[in-house]
Amino acid sequence: MAVRPIVVWPDSRLREETKSVETVTDEVRALYKDLWDTMVAYQGIGIASPQIGVPIKMFLIDAMVATGEEGADPVAFINPEIIATGNETDKSDEGCLSFPGVYVPIERPSTATVRAMGLDGETFEIAGTELLARAIQHENDHLTGKLMVDFVGPLKKRMIKRKLAREADYEPDQAEI
Ligand SMILES: [Zn+2]
Repeated sequence: MAVRPIVVWPDSRLREETKSVETVTDEVRALYKDLWDTMVAYQGIGIASPQIGVPIKMFLIDAMVATGEEGADPVAFINPEIIATGNETDKSDEGCLSFPGVYVPIERPSTATVRAMGLDGETFEIAGTELLARAIQHENDHLTGKLMVDFVGPLKKRMIKRKLAREADYEPDQAEI
């Protein structure tokens, strides 16, 4: 178990193609633990493998957000697939561990259902609303190389790039997706 450095945009590893997991091996379980440690250290509520530089289709969401269970282990979503989204949308500020201190208002479907494999190798589905729906879509985007900056115009993108370049010495601070 280890806290791994967070890959910060515009690092190209955030755009790398990710590989599916065939079976849950010790290596996959070790990756889960590293993601967990890193998410906790940086006080995120979700984290995706490319954010620690590993191009594997897996993300984690904090248990309180994913299932409402306090003190439970974060939920692992392996080979996730969003199988349904609602017609209604809402717009809300999003943060991301790979964009420290940056918040971007993003409009997304307000409900989303994801199908994924768990650490036990079994397939499960979770239907999310509100913050969970947003977290599922945000983390799933990471596995397809899509990032918060893809939702903003070129001017705002340039501002974000400058801000992150200025704050290259990243310290964990507040809760971010
Ligand atoms: Zn993110």
